[in-house]
Amino acid sequence: MSTTTWLYALLTLSAAVGISYFLGFKPGSGISKVLAATALNGSPSGSEQHDATHDQPPTQDYVEGDAMQDVEEEEIDRRLPPTQDQCLCCLKKVEELGKPMLRCSQCKNAFYCNNVCQKQEWKRHKFNCSLFPPEGLKPARILITKELVDEVRRVDEILKAWLDRVSELTNGLQENVEKINAADLPEALPICRLELIPQFQYKNLPQLQLERHPFRNPIIQIARLYLIALVASHPNPQHRKLLADKLTSVTLPTHLAPLYGPKVMSRPADLSPGEYDTFAEIAPAVMVEPEKVGMDESERGRWIALAVAMKKLWNAGLAPRTAGSAPAVTP
Ligand SMILES: [Zn+2]
Ligand SMILES: [Zn+2]
Repeated sequence: MSTTTWLYALLTLSAAVGISYFLGFKPGSGISKVLAATALNGSPSGSEQHDATHDQPPTQDYVEGDAMQDVEEEEIDRRLPPTQDQCLCCLKKVEELGKPMLRCSQCKNAFYCNNVCQKQEWKRHKFNCSLFPPEGLKPARILITKELVDEVRRVDEILKAWLDRVSELTNGLQENVEKINAADLPEALPICRLELIPQFQYKNLPQLQLERHPFRNPIIQIARLYLIALVASHPNPQHRKLLADKLTSVTLPTHLAPLYGPKVMSRPADLSPGEYDTFAEIAPAVMVEPEKVGMDESERGRWIALAVAMKKLWNAGLAPRTAGSAPAVTP
């Protein structure tokens, strides 16, 4: 997909707020269906999954024992992210340089002409850099637990309450979307103050100026939770591969962290803050034909809701609130 296509998709997002697009967004659906299906199959592990209490973070190692035994050696994907021909720092091209670019040894997905450029860029790149496992990428095996389903449903409701209020205040009119202070709605506070249950908390949140950007970290947390749920509820390897290919093929603007699709799909819990930002921003565009990747419209609706929240809240500060003050409204 070209840059233009996904930018176009993003531009239509705020319009989406005003036209009750989210009628199709049913909180908790999609993943609930998979949970129901798992229960119906009556597999012995299926019933245990729902009661299991796990203290470990939900990484690809989340499931231990038998579930991992079917990961054959040949399933491990040892391909590295594709080589880029431009230095991330000074933007020099490989032709000018006359030698191959150096690869970031940690993520393998950032390229520099030399160590000086790499050091200079690190201040920015550290938010986008996450480990590319030295052993290669194993297919993710994440259980759909009751905790995961409940947590996704809870976050869906928080986002939906805010979107419904935005929609109500804008009277379905796109021009009104710009007039309201979406960050100042009472319904925005639960997003701003969101705390996930311990097993889904992301430990690598950046130390941001939280007073100036109170929504950034919550949105990163939501993106990670949704991505874990997405990978968990799509065990079909073909669907995952399609999604991975789509992710890798999107041409991103330079301010977004580059994504390597196969890594996103096999390490959904272990990405960098910047990678979660990028995923949340491009997800609606990547899922334009949700049925092809085994999704339904309502699952895509969840990602659209998050992308709208990002667009409306990302740079928003939270205005000082006095008791009983009313949120900004439109005529
Ligand atoms: Zn350079
Ligand atoms: Zn890196």
